[in-house]
Amino acid sequence: MPEEGENKMSKPQIYVERTLAVIKPDAVHHADEIEDVITRYGFSVLQKRKVQLTPEQASEFYAEHFGKMFFPSLITYMSSGPVVALVLAKDQAISSWRELIGPTNSLIAKQTHPDCLRAKYGTDDQQNALHGSDSFTTAEKEIRFFFPDSIVEPIPIGEAAKSYLARTVNPTVLKGLTELCKKKPNDPITWLANWLLENNPNKPKVGGGNYKVEES
Ligand code: GDP
Ligand code: MG
Repeated sequence: MPEEGENKMSKPQIYVERTLAVIKPDAVHHADEIEDVITRYGFSVLQKRKVQLTPEQASEFYAEHFGKMFFPSLITYMSSGPVVALVLAKDQAISSWRELIGPTNSLIAKQTHPDCLRAKYGTDDQQNALHGSDSFTTAEKEIRFFFPDSIVEPIPIGEAAKSYLARTVNPTVLKGLTELCKKKPNDPITWLANWLLENNPNKPKVGGGNYKVEES
């Protein structure tokens, strides 16, 4: 979010949820097709890179599974060839992408969710073609793992959201609501929308025929 003192005329930021998608080694040859599906489902691809993970990097990425029976074969699989990592953005990107890829085990996915991507591109309980972050915290961490230089803007919540609104819109909206109560128009929403357009303090001051063209 913009810091105190930042230029008030700068472009307003829109915060959309982000998630990390990984096209795993077994599905990289379908990457173009999978990216088409990603955009068709309304995700924006903010960043993308193709990398081959070393076993150490794969172990770091999947550290939460260290010690499990399948951990060694998971690391071998994930470092067996290049992967494509993508930062996806959309409203509710994290849960939407998990829903689109489907259950972890591709064999189960084929039975229960035949249209999901793991059913289509995966093979078994391990080779399941795709990864998706499972929470907001994991998404931030995983995006930073693949894109360490990228700046992940925090979504303003709680006090930060309150202070952002207090600084940018509340004073104007309150004035508009006061006028609305005085006028009580038939269509209050449209009336308020028009009032806000008319009274937007950030609106350019030039225009409206109030200036003269100098004769040369
Ligand atoms: P995800 O979040 O749906 O990817 O599932 P998990 O975090 O539980 O597991 C991470 C990855 O480990 C999965 O995507 C699979 O590739 C693999 N994996 C998970 N469970 C198993 C299992 O029981 N056996 C094997 N061989 N691999 C598994
Ligand atoms: Mg997981």
